[in-house]
Order: sequence, then structure tokens, then C-alpha cells
Amino acid sequence: MKSVNAIEQLVSENNQLAKHAIHVHKFGGSSLASVECIERVVNIIKNHCKINDFVVVSANGKTTDALVNIYQQALDVSSELEASIEALQVAQRLLINTLLKSHSAQLITLLEQDIELLKSWVVNTRTNDKHIAKNEANILALGELWSARLLSAVLSERVCPSYFVDSRDFLVVNNDQDCVVDDSLSQQQFSRLLQGDKLAVVTGFIAKNAAGYNCTLGRNGSDYSATIVASLIGALNVTLWTDVDGIYSADPRIVPLARKLNRLPNGVAKELGRLGNPVLHAKTLQPLENHSTHLHIASSFDPNTSGTEVGRFGQIAKSELSVTYLNDLIIAKSISLTGSYGEQAIKQFSAICSDINAGFIVITQNKQKALSQWLASHDTEVSFTPVSIIAIVGHEVAKHGDVKARFKRALKNYQTMHLVSSTNEHSLIAVLPHVCTGETVNNVHHDMTKDARHIGVVIAGVGNIGERFIEMLPAQMDRIPALENVHLVGLVSSKKAIISRDGIDVTQAYELFQKEATPYKTEDLLSWLANHPYDELIVVDITPSEDFSLLYQEFFEKGIHVIGANKWAASSSTEHYNQLLNIAKKNHCLWLGNTTVGAGLPINFAIDNLLECGDSIKEISGVFSGTLSWLFETYDGDVPFSELLTLALSQGITEPDPREDLSGRDVQRKLLILARLAGFELALEDIDCQNLVPRPLQEISTQEFLDNVEQLDSYFADKLEKANSQNGCIRYVAAFTCDNNKIKAKVSLEILPKTDAFANLTPGDNIFKIISQCYQDNPLIIRGAGAGRDVTSAGLHSDLAIICKRLAHRKQPVKLKGIQQ
Ligand code: ADP
Ligand code: ASP
Ligand code: MG
Repeated sequence: MKSVNAIEQLVSENNQLAKHAIHVHKFGGSSLASVECIERVVNIIKNHCKINDFVVVSANGKTTDALVNIYQQALDVSSELEASIEALQVAQRLLINTLLKSHSAQLITLLEQDIELLKSWVVNTRTNDKHIAKNEANILALGELWSARLLSAVLSERVCPSYFVDSRDFLVVNNDQDCVVDDSLSQQQFSRLLQGDKLAVVTGFIAKNAAGYNCTLGRNGSDYSATIVASLIGALNVTLWTDVDGIYSADPRIVPLARKLNRLPNGVAKELGRLGNPVLHAKTLQPLENHSTHLHIASSFDPNTSGTEVGRFGQIAKSELSVTYLNDLIIAKSISLTGSYGEQAIKQFSAICSDINAGFIVITQNKQKALSQWLASHDTEVSFTPVSIIAIVGHEVAKHGDVKARFKRALKNYQTMHLVSSTNEHSLIAVLPHVCTGETVNNVHHDMTKDARHIGVVIAGVGNIGERFIEMLPAQMDRIPALENVHLVGLVSSKKAIISRDGIDVTQAYELFQKEATPYKTEDLLSWLANHPYDELIVVDITPSEDFSLLYQEFFEKGIHVIGANKWAASSSTEHYNQLLNIAKKNHCLWLGNTTVGAGLPINFAIDNLLECGDSIKEISGVFSGTLSWLFETYDGDVPFSELLTLALSQGITEPDPREDLSGRDVQRKLLILARLAGFELALEDIDCQNLVPRPLQEISTQEFLDNVEQLDSYFADKLEKANSQNGCIRYVAAFTCDNNKIKAKVSLEILPKTDAFANLTPGDNIFKIISQCYQDNPLIIRGAGAGRDVTSAGLHSDLAIICKRLAHRKQPVKLKGIQQ
């Protein structure tokens, strides 16, 4: 549990680290695919990098694919080889000539030399069997080499002095399969290459093996290069900049409704990488195991959106599930794949999944030949069948019987050969005898994650009603299915707060607040709220504060929903109110304020409901103040008005300064809120307001007012006498009418017949009367307790349940910004 020192801590952590620690930024091929992409990367480096940071790069766009293709064409003696080389050269030349000014000629010369070398390796590949592996590694290395050389030159011309480092000059791994780093040798060699006060751009993906030959770290290996560099230099942060703003619950290119996973536990990230998720190469986390390095995934196309953080997290992050799949696999079945031989094979061929009791392993197709040779020495029969897998990945997911049962149900329409758990228990893997299609992934994803939208709730205002709201929360969360994934993440008063990214225990929230809340600054709170790790965040405003209501605009801009008992925002100036509505709409934010008028009474719902059925409202009137209702229902002249007011004050029925009730401002604001809800555009000044406090008592202090309160008596005694003479009574009434587009609105003390609906209330009750097209002769009336701790908290809970239900059903397709389709 973190207190709001914690907000500051969380917020400033990044800033401080940025000041003092080294950061490794890795840009993947998709982030460097074109001139525009590289321009974007240059801007990110300008804004996010310090001179002593390190940049690690992949080959531009699909250059590695092109080089793999060239190597294959060389092996196959393809007639298209020359054209492929030419296309590659043209693409590189274009990047160099467009992005560089003074350095372009130099880089073009180097490119031409490299192309000559490439051609010689191609010839060697055809003619010289022995050095085939060497040729392949030389050819594949060109992509990263070109990319690093170019970016470094662009940075030198435009941003800061920069140099590029060929990672083959320092990085040594044991072999091309395991790629275990020789730390001390690599570190030694690396430190010799470093140049102070220049930004280093290091090639990803490539290294030397123990025999001193060039090798690669495998496809997508630059992620691994980035964390290797981080471990060699002790960096505190690594950001993998890619074309998607984080890791999603499934490949967002294939599953448009995939959810972003804001936080991914280390073990789960590692398993996702192992199962082929391209955002994270399988070995990426290895170098960070003994370091406190933070790993982030962010989009170079949308650098200000917070991405995914990989690390050690609590229960909420651990309950996330994602779906991944791999095609082009082979299942090998043999008696030799049981027992200890099976175990050997699993290791040697990096099995995706296996069952050594049943004697099978699933491997990538390119390992079939080697496995075949390995098994030949055992002289047993083996069968190879093409398969695919689809897997559910989540923290210790294999231990959860319910997830397994759900996965089986999700797969019921598909043929499944086997369902196995990974050894680390972070995945459940189904082996399919056919290709795993996008449709299968979408269906399984839907069935496995449909209820999994995590909603964070921050409660602002921990007073009388706030306390009751918190008290009711545990029972509500048990009762209401839509609140199943709700997490209380913050409690905020005007002075203190506690915030917890992993959720606050709702059964002890109030006590925890009393014990652990600490002072905070508004900007820190806002910054935390902007970077919260939830799918949705709701602020429940139970403060009476105008200042707090002024934050709504920022909440909406950050996509945060608001439930407010606070009347200020909904009764602010027309311009401000309309602006808030527009910003909320633009950012898909919900704003509910059922309790701003009539506490828990469903007056807002009634108005919405009438409008939704096409009705039009002509009049809204009633007694909207519990305090004034109590005073005038009780006042019969026997006791002077001032005595009654003092009694009401002592019982907490009035505000601490009763003039706030007597001024009519509160009723005026409520009438404005309802009229706006009914679709009318008006401002507070359009509502006449009768202030029941005589002018001489308006400007003095509360105490002076209370000392002179009997000055009120004669006015109310006269008014009551006049009412009695007409066989009537006095009530403080709000009335809004719209007749032929003419609006009349006022709040005032009125004499009403004793038979009037507004005249016979239980003291403290509110009454609302609506006259509409449908309810003309027989108006719609809502009446009941219009203030109080229980009913107001209940009203707020009703809003919370409504918002959560709406959010649970909201399908927010992934923004495909940056993802090339
Ligand atoms: P880079 O070029 O930055 O190395 P990659 O192309 O290797 O990036 O990986 C990013 C791609 O990974 C995304 O475009 C996305 O389509 C794909 N992807 C697959 N699974 C996921 C997932 N679960 N979350 C996010 N992206 C995923
Ligand atoms: N360029 C290499 C690849 O395409 C390495 C990487 O991008 O991480 O696989
Ligand atoms: Mg990649």
C-alpha cells in the first residue's frame, strides 16, 4: 500500500530517474520503416533522451525479411536475386538522401561498398558450402548496420553529437542457439568503445559467437540486445519503442477488441515472448533478472500515451489474461520423447509445449530436420504432423481450474489434439491439427476476456457522506456483477490522500485513510490519474468544493469518468458547462450527477426517461431543499422562526452557516441543473432568486448573523399571518416553465393553498413536479427524503453501478494508430 507520498513518488520517480539514470531506448523495425517514421524517432530522441543514454536499433522496416529472402534466393540460385538486391539498395539510398544533408555522400559510398560485399557473400553462399552460416550472418547483419549508421548520422546533423556502435565489436554470446552473453568479455569490450558526451546508437540483433564468427540473436532479437546493453551499463530504464502502444490481450492487428495490458508481470511477459509474441523477444527479460531495471513498451507513433510496464506487480495485474497463437509448428510423437530423453529434446529443440508421458513435443518447423537426426540415433519410429497452438497466458494460469474449464468451453467448436500447461504454469496451450485463424483467436479471446475490464475508483471527499459511501462499497461489490472488476484505488480529501495502484482493501479503506493518508499536491494527483493502470477510471466527487469541480475538464481530457454529488460543475456558466459536456463526449467520458439534486431521488432518471420517450418538458417545480422543507413544514408561528432555525442548526439540518440555505442559491443551482437536464440552455442569472436573508444580515460574519438571527422573525411572522388569512401556508418553491419558447424561472417563498401537493410534505422531504406533453393534466410527481447520509450515498452507488454496467459492455476497438495494416 502506498500513501500519497506515493503519488509524488510514482510521478517523480520517472522524472528523477530521467535525471540520474541511464535509459536505453530501442526502436524496432516498424518504428524506423520510412522517412516519416525516422523523423518521429528523431523527435522522440530529442524529447526523451539524454546524451549518456543509449539507443539500440533494429533494421529499417522489413529489411531483415528482405535480407533473409536474398540469402534464400542465393541458396536457391533464384533469378530474382539481382532485382532483390537492387530494391534493397534503392530503399536505403532513398532514406539516406532524404534524411541527410552533409553526410549523405559518405553514407552512400559506404552503402555501395556494403552492396559489393553482399554480392560477394551471395556468390560464396552458392559456391562455398563450408561458410554458409558465416555468409548468412554477414548478410543479415547489414540491416542493423545500415539503420544504426543512418540514425546516428541524422542525430549528429540535427540533434547532438552521436556515434554508432556495431554490436559485433563487443557482444559475445556462447552460440547461435542459446545466445547466453559472455558478460565480462562483452562489458570489457563495450567500455572500450564508448565515447563520452556523444549519443551512442547501437545495432540490435547481431553479435559474435564464442568461435569469433558473426551471429544473430534470432528474429526480433533487438529487444534482447536492448536489455543486454542495459545490463552491461546498469541502465535503470529500457523502453522498447514499437508500432503499438503496449502489449495487448491479443495481437491488436488480429483482435480489434483486444485490451491494453497496462502492467505485465515478468513471468507472464517472458512466457508471451517464448510463445512468439513479436513485441517481446523470448530472451528479453533474461539480462534484467538480477537488475532493478524497468521495462516499458511504448508506441513511437503515439509517444505520449502510456504503454505497458513489465515488472513485479500485485494481484490485479496478475489476474490479466491474454491470448496468443503460433502457426507453422510440428508435433513430433515418438516413444523416445518420453521420460528423460523427452526432457533432453524439450531443452535442445526449445519445445513450445510437450508431454513426456504421452511422448510428444511441439517445435517450430525449422527444427524438424535436426530433431529427425537426433531421433535417428535412437532408432525409434517418429511421426511428424503440422499443427498450430493457441494459448492463454496469465500469471500461474495453469493453477486456476476455472480458467482451464473456460478455455475448454471456448475451444468446444474446434478440434483440439492436446491441452497442456507450460512448465512455468503461466500458460495453457491447446494444440490444433489445423491453422489457427484470426477468427479462432477472436472467438477464444472474446470468451476468455469478455468480463475483464478493470475499473479503478477514486473517491474524493471523505466526510460524512463519503464515509457512508465507502462503508457501503464492499457489500455493493459483492452484490452487483458489474462491480466485479472494480478496485478502489484512491481516497482523497482536500488535504490528504492515499493512492494504490494495486487497490485499497475496501473493508478497511476508511481506517487506512485515517492512518496513512498524507498531504499531496493537485498536480501530482492529476499526473497520477493520467498514468493510472486501469482500463477505466472513475472519480467519485463527494466534495462540496468548487475548486475540485474545476478539475473535471482535466479528468475528461484524460478519459476519466466522473460521478458527482458536487453541484458546482453542472451549475457553472453556460460556456463552461457546454465545454465540459463537449470534452466529456469527445473523450468518451461518462458524467453522472444523480445526487446533485434530490439526493437519491430518481428525478434525473425521470427527466432522462421522458426525453428518451420523445416527451417534451414544459414545467419543473417543487421543493428542492431538505432544509427549507423542514423549516417551513415545521414553522407554524408558535415558536419564533429564529428559534426553529437555531434548533435546525444544532441538529445538522442546516449548513454550518444557515444563510447558505436561506439565500436560495442552492435551490437556484438545483433548478438550473434540472432545467439543463431537460434540454434547456439557461444560466444561473436567468433564474430569479429570492434571498430570505435581509440585506443587513447578508455581509456579516456567521457568528454576528447568529447573534442577530431574531431579526428574521418579523418577516416570516408577517408572511405566515398573510398565508393564514388566505387559509394557505408558506413554502420555498422552485419553478421553471417554458411556454411558447419563453422561459420563466424563479426560486422564492410562496403562499400556497394548504391542499397543494407542495404543502403536505414530511418535514425534510423534497418534491418534484414535472409537467410535460404526456403528463399535462396529471403531472408526474416524485417525492421523498431529499437529503441525508444514507440516501445520498445510495444515490452515488446507483450512479456507480450504472457507469460500471455501461463500461463493462463498452467495446473499445483498438486504435490502429501506427500499426501498419
Ligand atoms: P518492432 O518492429 O517494433 O520490433 P514487431 O513488429 O516485432 O515490432 O512487434 C509489434 C507487433 O506485434 C505489433 O504490430 C502487433 O501486431 C504484434 N503483436 C502480436 N501480439 C501482440 C500483443 N499481444 N500485443 C501487442 N502487439 C502484438
Ligand atoms: N531486424 C531483426 C528482425 O527483423 C531484429 C529485430 O527487428 O528485432 O528480426
Ligand atoms: Mg520486433
